[in-house]
Amino acid sequence: MGRLYNFAMIHDYMICNIILGQAIAGQWQVSPKTNIAIANGRISYIGPDKVDAKQIYNGRGRLLTPALIDCHTHLVYGGNRAHEFDLRLNGASYQDIAKQGGGINYTVQQTQKASEKTLYQQAKVRLNHFMQQGVATIEIKSGYGQNIHDELKQLRIARQLAQNHKMRIIPTYLGAHSAPAGADKGQFIAQCISDLDMVKQSGLAQQVDGFCENIGFTTNQCEEYLTRAKQLGFAIKLHSDQLSNIGGTPMAVRLGALSVDHLEYIDESDCQILGNSSTIAVLLPAAFYYLRETTRPPIGLMRQYGVKMAVASDCNPGSSPCHSLLLSMNMASVLWQMTPAEVFCGVTHHAALALGLENLGLIKEGYIADMALWNCTHPNQLIYNIGYNPHHKTMVAGEWR
Ligand SMILES: [Zn+2]
Repeated sequence: MGRLYNFAMIHDYMICNIILGQAIAGQWQVSPKTNIAIANGRISYIGPDKVDAKQIYNGRGRLLTPALIDCHTHLVYGGNRAHEFDLRLNGASYQDIAKQGGGINYTVQQTQKASEKTLYQQAKVRLNHFMQQGVATIEIKSGYGQNIHDELKQLRIARQLAQNHKMRIIPTYLGAHSAPAGADKGQFIAQCISDLDMVKQSGLAQQVDGFCENIGFTTNQCEEYLTRAKQLGFAIKLHSDQLSNIGGTPMAVRLGALSVDHLEYIDESDCQILGNSSTIAVLLPAAFYYLRETTRPPIGLMRQYGVKMAVASDCNPGSSPCHSLLLSMNMASVLWQMTPAEVFCGVTHHAALALGLENLGLIKEGYIADMALWNCTHPNQLIYNIGYNPHHKTMVAGEWR
C-alpha cells in the first residue's frame, strides 16, 4: 500500500505517548513511545513524530491495541437456562438435554414469547459487558426463532443495538440452528431455504450460518441451504465439527465460507483443506469448557497446515453463557495451548477476516481506527490474567465511545 496521507496534512486526531501492541500472523509487535494519528475515521500516521492534528490525546504510557472483535455470538435471546445447570453438573450431556426438549428448544419458546422491548433490554445488558472489555465489533446470530417471524425479530434487535451503541454489529441469520421438537428436519430446512428470500429483502442480515452436526443438520442439508444463501449474495459460515465430524468443514470451504466454527472434531485432512483456503477457523473455548468436553481442536495440526485461527466467546444461553471475550482468550491458551500472540491475532485481525471485514483488526495506516487503550504494558497481560479487565477507553471509527 502506498502512503495515503502526506506529512503536510492536518490530521483529525493524534493519540500520543502510547505503547502500540498487536499480533500480526501470530507474532507480537510491541512498540513503546509511539504516536498514532487519525483522519476520516482511519489510521493516518503511526510513528515517533508529533504530527499536526486538530486534537491531541495523551495516552500517558498506556497500551493501545486494535479494538477487540467477537466474531461468534448468539447474544439476542429470551430467558436463561440456569435451571439446566444442575442437570449438567449431574452429568446430563448437551445431547441428553436436547433430547428431553430442553436446551435450544426452551430458549426458542422464551424468545418467541418475549416482547421486542424485553429482548432488547436483556441483550443490551449482555452487550455492555463486551463494550466494557474493549470490543468494538461483535457478530450476533439469530437462531432461536424457528420461524421467519421470530428470526427477523431477533435480527431487528441486533439492528436496534447497532443504532443505539457505538458498536459495529454484524448480523447473521442462523435459521438452520435447530428444528422444532418432533419436526421433520428435511421439511424444516426446506422452509429455511425458502425463507432466505425474505431475509434478503429485510436487509437485516449480512451473513448466513447453519448448524452442521449429528444433532443438527446433515452436510447435504447445510450445503443446499448455504448454496442458496450464497446465490442471494450473503456471506456464509458454518458451525462444524463441534460434537462429531460429518463433513461440514470441507463442504463449507468448497462453497467459500468466511469461517467454520468450533472444530473440536476436525481431522488432519480437513485441517489441510482449511489451511489451503481463506476460510477462518473460529475456535470457541468457553463452549468446550462449559460442556466439559475432552476432545480438543487439533491446534498443532492447524498451526502445521497454516490454518488462520480466530477466537470468540460463543455467548449463548446453553453451551456458553460467557459474556467475556477476555476470559475466552485465557481459556484458548490454558485449555488448548494456543500462544497468547495467536489468541490476540484471533480476536483482532483473524476475527475481522472471519466476518469478511477488510482494513480492520490491525493498527496499520489506512485501516479503520477501532482501537482500545488499556492500563497495562503488553497485550499478553490481557490473556495471562483471569477476571482482570484493565480496559480504559475504546475508539470506534475514529471516535471515542
Ligand atoms: Zn454458535
